[in-house]
Amino acid sequence: MYYGSGNYEAFAHPKKPEGVDNKSAYIVGTGLAALSAACYLVRDGQMKGEKITIFEKDPIPGGACDGYLYEGLGYVMRGGREMDNHFEVMWDLFRDIPSIETEGVSVLDEYYWLNKEDPNFSLRRTTKECGKDGETNNKFGLSDKAAKEIMHLFFTPDEKLYNKKITDFFSDEVLNSNFWLYWRTMFAFENWHSALEMKIYIKRYIHHIQGLPDFKALRFTRYNQYESMILPMIEYLKNNNVNFVFNTKVIDVDFEIKSDKKQATSITILKEGKTEVINLTENDLVFITNGGCVENSSYGSQNTKAEYKPELKPGGGWDMWKRIASKDTSFGHPEKFCSDPEKTNWVSATVTTLDEKIVPYIQKVCERDPFTGHKVTGGIVTVMDSNWLMSWTFNRQPQFRSQPDGQLVGWIYGLFSDKEGNYIKKAMRECTGKEICMEWLYHLGVPVDQIDDLATNSANTIPAMMPYITAFFMPREAGDRPDVVPEGSTNFAFIGQFAETPRDTIFTTEYSMRTGMEAVYTLLNVDRAVPEVWGSTYDVRDLLKSSYYLRDEKKITEMEMSIVEKMTLSKVLKKIEGTDIEKILKEQKLI
Ligand SMILES: Cc1cc2nc3c(=O)[nH]c(=O)nc-3n(C[C@H](O)[C@H](O)[C@H](O)COP(=O)(O)OP(=O)(O)OC[C@H]3O[C@@H](n4cnc5c(N)ncnc54)[C@H](O)[C@@H]3O)c2cc1C
Repeated sequence: MYYGSGNYEAFAHPKKPEGVDNKSAYIVGTGLAALSAACYLVRDGQMKGEKITIFEKDPIPGGACDGYLYEGLGYVMRGGREMDNHFEVMWDLFRDIPSIETEGVSVLDEYYWLNKEDPNFSLRRTTKECGKDGETNNKFGLSDKAAKEIMHLFFTPDEKLYNKKITDFFSDEVLNSNFWLYWRTMFAFENWHSALEMKIYIKRYIHHIQGLPDFKALRFTRYNQYESMILPMIEYLKNNNVNFVFNTKVIDVDFEIKSDKKQATSITILKEGKTEVINLTENDLVFITNGGCVENSSYGSQNTKAEYKPELKPGGGWDMWKRIASKDTSFGHPEKFCSDPEKTNWVSATVTTLDEKIVPYIQKVCERDPFTGHKVTGGIVTVMDSNWLMSWTFNRQPQFRSQPDGQLVGWIYGLFSDKEGNYIKKAMRECTGKEICMEWLYHLGVPVDQIDDLATNSANTIPAMMPYITAFFMPREAGDRPDVVPEGSTNFAFIGQFAETPRDTIFTTEYSMRTGMEAVYTLLNVDRAVPEVWGSTYDVRDLLKSSYYLRDEKKITEMEMSIVEKMTLSKVLKKIEGTDIEKILKEQKLI
């Protein structure tokens, strides 16, 4: 497997890999990583679908990429996925996955046209004091000291960030800024999370700095991502005769481990109460989704809370990974991520408005009619003075294909599930759907005497508790996540959010899809480049531009400097006069 960029390899089709007709594949999970692995086995590996078997413990596919109507409960999406144009693997694959909405076009085309016609941006990123404008005014509000702390993290080598927390690098100068408010609510970072991950995120999205405060950097699918992304992939795979085996837990995978060679030798599955062992040869490839951010998640309802149940059980992604990891040091350290759910949980809630009564309050904040079919909030709205640090969003409506006219489906989440609300004097995770809705309505500016009635009669709200939702952000070091294909592996790979691939950001659809592609390309030796993670961090234009916008459009000369620093800067500026360096600094408005 090797990386590449540019058109030459992007549009080429690889030759059929040697020996593929003698091989078969077993895939654990039906999340984006697993489905991508299956799609790449079919498209580029040219493996016959009949030879691919996918085991999923749940009755439905998609894993963390969800969006369903549960009978008797209501619409549920545990998350809404912000995406960008430089999800290189995603677009590499989706250009060949047919849309299930429009005949004859790909998922990529559908998404591209949609986001061209209706580009995303928010008119109100923050609120305070019950629905008033948060007055963050698209400014990052970073002091020079704060900007330097971010630069320091940006240039610190990964090894020095191992097991370090964000607060080891950022002081209150950063943590109290709008920058941090935007950043942590957008990406779901907590202050105690990994400094290494934070660095990877800044580098990965450096080209988006300008577009972060109002979310013009983002793109969204037409419907929830289960319907817009998972279902087309399932359709493609089923049309290619791939076998799906639902309600089947993979308990364990066994290996023969020699000094130079590691081979998966069997998979133990539990199906309908019976344990079965599938023996493997070197020609049987295994793709394992280890761990999982929505493992042990639970739903409440309008009138019940979502139970917090972090205990790990056999047949789940964490238990399976623990068993596997105990067999070789190169299979990672799951306990690094799943041992402190108090630090990795949050609660989200899906709210469905049932009549017109709540709609004007939403419209007042987002300044858009939510029923046009176009963007509504254009990304999350963060309630700055919420004790839960609540954010909420309504994406294009309908969010579900089956959604009745006149209803809106939106998403609420809070970063602090253990704090009492401002209106509801309970921790978010102790709240029923109705109570979460009440807290949200309070922050929307609904008069207090109407809150109970609207939350009861004009909305249906379903909470979801996810004990491990940010497990991948726990401080870590090299080796804590197994390589996608560990050294010496002849027939197995790890995929998903807890497999190691360099430079990409973990809490993204792209990361998981990338691991699926890399796994297939490595194990089948597919002779075509995997698109490298978008390289804006190596592009001087993006670096200069981001430093201009990160400092709220200030020039270099407007930095606080000592007399000596000022003199040095003026000498440097003199030296570059008349050169391309001066030109590019001017183009990027830095001088
Ligand atoms: C709340 C939330 C918000 C998000 N926001 C964004 C965002 O803004 N932007 C973005 O790009 N991405 C976002 N994501 C992330 C994105 O959805 C995930 O990264 C991606 O879906 C993960 O896919 P995966 O295949 O790696 O893992 P998963 O989806 O977790 O898939 C793992 C699958 O394996 C199955 N499985 C596990 N163990 C076993 C076993 N032992 N036997 C059988 N089956 C097993 C599971 O049931 C599951 O189906 C968000 C996700 C959530 C939940």
